[in-house]
Amino acid sequence: MTVGIKGKFIIGFDGSEHRLLRDGVVVYEGNRIVHVGKSYSGQVDDWIDASTGLVIPGLINTHLHAAGAPNDKSFLEDIGVRPLYGSNLGENLTALNLATSREDKEILARYSLAECLRSGNTTVVEIGMVSAIGEEKTVEMIGEMGIRACEGHGLGDGAMERTGAYDFQIKWLEEEVGQGRLERAERFVERYRGAHNGRLMPALYPGGVMSCSLEYQKTIREKSDELEVPVSIHAGEWVVEFQNMLRMYGRTPVEFMHDTGLLGPNLIIGHLWAIAGHPLLAYPAVGGGDLALLAEAGATVSHDPVVFAKRGNRMHSHSKYLEAGVNVSIGTDTVPQDMLNEMRIASYVSKLADWDPYSGTSREVFNSATLAGAKAIGRPDLGRLAPGALADIAIIDMETINSVPCRDPIRNLVNCAQRGDVRTVIVDGKTLVDDGRLLYVDEEKLVREVQEVGERIWSKIPEVHHFKKTADEVSPQSFRPWEE
Ligand SMILES: [Zn+2]
Repeated sequence: MTVGIKGKFIIGFDGSEHRLLRDGVVVYEGNRIVHVGKSYSGQVDDWIDASTGLVIPGLINTHLHAAGAPNDKSFLEDIGVRPLYGSNLGENLTALNLATSREDKEILARYSLAECLRSGNTTVVEIGMVSAIGEEKTVEMIGEMGIRACEGHGLGDGAMERTGAYDFQIKWLEEEVGQGRLERAERFVERYRGAHNGRLMPALYPGGVMSCSLEYQKTIREKSDELEVPVSIHAGEWVVEFQNMLRMYGRTPVEFMHDTGLLGPNLIIGHLWAIAGHPLLAYPAVGGGDLALLAEAGATVSHDPVVFAKRGNRMHSHSKYLEAGVNVSIGTDTVPQDMLNEMRIASYVSKLADWDPYSGTSREVFNSATLAGAKAIGRPDLGRLAPGALADIAIIDMETINSVPCRDPIRNLVNCAQRGDVRTVIVDGKTLVDDGRLLYVDEEKLVREVQEVGERIWSKIPEVHHFKKTADEVSPQSFRPWEE
């Protein structure tokens, strides 16, 4: 079947960059785009009217935790552990994870993916679902939700241990444990490569730079080259980790991954705001510093600004990374799983970091959320509207109270548009969101279920929190309760 979209604004790809096409058409046949231009003379079976819309390639989210993340909401805002430099890792996040049952993680995963789709996000590099709900359930859910996803097993040959009041050290595991995880991850790749018409893209997920030894990282490099899959790791995500890497090896997280050879074009580094030269770290960059190593290796940084902005922290800065030649993509990490919101904050955070309105432009941020994400996962057929690319498309209404007047639709998308303005989302040629509603998810039921999950988690916090605190003690309500 051949479908055409008539759009007021279309972001077409000319082979080297995005261009703005006014009053044009995008035509796709099955799951591939066959034409982008002012008009189309061939046969079209069905037309989608986007005469008030902006037609863009589906956004690519390079770092999120679908099964765990929604439990942050209504809990981790406005708080952080001071002795952990404001992070919630290792304490509050650990408690939330322990308080969430496997069944509840399944509901949260469905919710996260629903949120992603509703914000025009068609491809996700999702980390953690396989461990949280099992590989079969994960694969089934990706099939059911219709989204395009990288998935894989977690890897590591070390585990983080709380060895002092606020001291975290790595305990190295038996060699067979790390090896067993690698074998399981490889089996997943072989079993599910090409699943769901290729929508499921297996990947390798070493958990963090601290919990994978030098030798283990070398093995992951070899394995990923052999399997030809993307690799995603957490690094440069908190002060504790940066300092521990210096103590353990005398190297920054990036220098260490350079030493191990893990740094390469198929590596996506989650967060990586903590690099040499960042003002919070008191560790100056020498020469080109970490950015030069990243650029030379062709590695990708997944910039996930919202979760860090909430802790009073930020990357320094999106534009500086780009100027250094680093491939910067965008991820949502936690909540909300809303790429439009993430793009907006990415833009503002970069301007704030540089004290400069010319930093973090809409163009830069949109390129990061499309072309850079596609590069990160080695897929030149995604993140662009061009003949031969996959039909992963989002249509955002620009004639809403949010986005008029519209002279430059990309600026309005980054600065003004809201998730509710996303009218249509197509993945692999199949329409998943129509008229702003998910076609294959009962949204009312999902909303009810997620609220119930939240209530269950908050009541379990005292049992699992390191200091046995209640939810209200860890995270006091914004206002005291009304008392007569
Ligand atoms: Zn993460």
